[in-house]
Amino acid sequence: MQIHQIGGLGFDSNIYLIIDEVIALIDAGTGMNFETVTRNMGKFNLKPNDIELLINTHCHYDHAGGDHDFVKAAGCEMAIHELEAELLRKGDQIIMLVGSLFGRKILEPIEVSRELREGDLIKLGELTLQVLHTPGHTAGSISLFEPNQQLLFSGDTIFSEGIGRVDLPTGNAEAIHNSIMRLAKLKVQKMYPGHGPITEENAHEHILKMAKIAFDLR
Ligand SMILES: [Zn+2]
Ligand SMILES: [Zn+2]
Repeated sequence: MQIHQIGGLGFDSNIYLIIDEVIALIDAGTGMNFETVTRNMGKFNLKPNDIELLINTHCHYDHAGGDHDFVKAAGCEMAIHELEAELLRKGDQIIMLVGSLFGRKILEPIEVSRELREGDLIKLGELTLQVLHTPGHTAGSISLFEPNQQLLFSGDTIFSEGIGRVDLPTGNAEAIHNSIMRLAKLKVQKMYPGHGPITEENAHEHILKMAKIAFDLR
């Protein structure tokens, strides 16, 4: 099993390529750098049409804008939390922040084939990801936790340096507080956030530290 960060260019979210029995992507970036992302996949002898499953941590354009290209190339399964599936299907401009933050107004509807719920298990082979519903940054934000390897994909809920914004549509300060306190109880070694650097070890301590700073805990 391998995990590689192949995105993060410009406005793009981080894009995690998981090479396991199932080839999966976590988030797809804006789609504006699809050629670079494709080249990055090529380093591991993979092409966009090798992707079997694409998971969005939430509906924002910097994570979901690239979905269409991958689904078109690969016909892959596309998964997002049930609260945000409909937004992708109809290409909701406001919630996905297309015009306002990313300066691109056209969004093609994305066919969501799998709606995720709290507690769902996503079996990839060596890895089995647990779906944790962690609202706050958006109402349907999820984190993906792998308890055996102690890995956490945290989307825009918590980063290596800070926590997610709550001032965007469906954002909620109390909800993100509860979500981060929940993540702080997990045994996590490595954290893969939606933006910025990966926390390589002792991510649990790191999440606690971020929570203390953000919520002024004693
Ligand atoms: Zn983001
Ligand atoms: Zn976001």
